[in-house]
Amino acid sequence: MGDFNQAVILESIRRAPEGISRVELASLTGLSPQTISNVVRRLLDDGIVREDRTVVSGPGKPRTVLELEGNRLVSIGIHLDPSVLTFVVMNLRGDVIRERRIDVPNLEVASETIELMGNTVKELIAEVRIPKKHIVGVGIAVPGPVNIEEGMILNPPLLDGWADVDIVAPLRKMLRLQVIVEKDTIASAIGELWQAKEEKSEDFIFVYCGHGFGAGIVLDSDVHRGSSNNAGEIGHYSTGKKSLLCEECGADDCLAAGTSYEFIAKQAKERGLDLPYSDDMGPEQRSEGINHLISLGQEGNEIAAALLQESMSKVGEVAGQLANSLDIGQIVFGGPQWEQVKEICEESITAAITRRFALRTVHEIETRTSELGSQVGAIGGACAVMDASLSPKATALLLR
Ligand SMILES: [Zn+2]
Repeated sequence: MGDFNQAVILESIRRAPEGISRVELASLTGLSPQTISNVVRRLLDDGIVREDRTVVSGPGKPRTVLELEGNRLVSIGIHLDPSVLTFVVMNLRGDVIRERRIDVPNLEVASETIELMGNTVKELIAEVRIPKKHIVGVGIAVPGPVNIEEGMILNPPLLDGWADVDIVAPLRKMLRLQVIVEKDTIASAIGELWQAKEEKSEDFIFVYCGHGFGAGIVLDSDVHRGSSNNAGEIGHYSTGKKSLLCEECGADDCLAAGTSYEFIAKQAKERGLDLPYSDDMGPEQRSEGINHLISLGQEGNEIAAALLQESMSKVGEVAGQLANSLDIGQIVFGGPQWEQVKEICEESITAAITRRFALRTVHEIETRTSELGSQVGAIGGACAVMDASLSPKATALLLR
């Protein structure tokens, strides 16, 4: 996909949706006009950019601008969530040009699910009618922990039947495309960053609300990956509120235990609300239980709403502590479950963050909802593979 200078130039064009002239590119990137001319020629020849529109702005002669060619390069994102598979086909501009959502009845059989993923991607490629050579690759966002070098899902706590699953190799074989895997929280943070239209130095925490909770950490406009690409594990932070003994961390007040379906169902029962619960429930039944609770909350059941608010305020307690450690000024909420609970829980989670945020005398902490909606994981996967192939970031270069 070319060299570092090409990646820098492509990134600058991508971040200028109104177009950018060669002169502006030179002053923005610090590259010589000759280098820019060489790279732009290559991009024009490959049909990745176009240079046929003139813009008049202010005095002086009109400038001809470079823009991305619509669907010349696309990537495919897949999000594996314990209850649903989401697919997107995304172009270099970041527009989703095709999407698919599949509720999976037997997600526990990993090999069948992977085959379903491969077949669905083939269908989507056929539907968008884009030649394979213009498809950058496939990025899969999955619950962590992961080993991205080996393309493995390791042992996700809330996804039975998915311990040590090689997900990349079979899809690569089936599709004959570049395939990468990323932890869902990191993919979501990459998506949020990639979709920001203007280049700006940004530090934020992406609070991912799915089947479990995780954080994507962005520092200086780059996703913090950690030593094993599994950064952002917040499930075992102390919330300061006793719940159940957690077998994984040994504490009785961690976020995972305090937001588990088991604990919520127990609390509900004490308050006179019966939720379906048994010790041998699988991830699908737990997920159904949570969805049932959410619909009760949406219908105005006060016990259900209070349980959801208490649960999400624990997430806020933890996010506030993480923001303290990193000196962060912005928290973004997103993920499949956030969309459903936002109305009910936004106030309580924000209150908890503000209460915990100890740097408030120095600066404010802003909270907002991601604009990527429930597709954030899949968009993140699509952005991650674009990022790995095209971005000038040092971390991405290592993946090439
Ligand atoms: Zn724990």
